Amino acid sequence: MQRKEISAIIENDFLQLLKDSNLIEKYQNKELLCCNCKEPIVENNIFAMFYENELQFCCNKAACVCFFEKRR
Ligand SMILES: [Zn+2]
Repeated sequence: MQRKEISAIIENDFLQLLKDSNLIEKYQNKELLCCNCKEPIVENNIFAMFYENELQFCCNKAACVCFFEKRR
């Protein structure tokens, strides 16, 4: 349930949030990295984002999803 809400937020507001955080340029340059595997975050691999000191992103690889779930 909670996870579903997160994906909905991402789909609707991901780009807007990037703009608000001045990260849109980094995203377009593929400089936003997954907090676990350090691969560039792109539109079709973004799984989640969370705030820890700064905005962090997590891609949708099984290992990274698992990593993200564990920190919640
Ligand atoms: Zn990853």
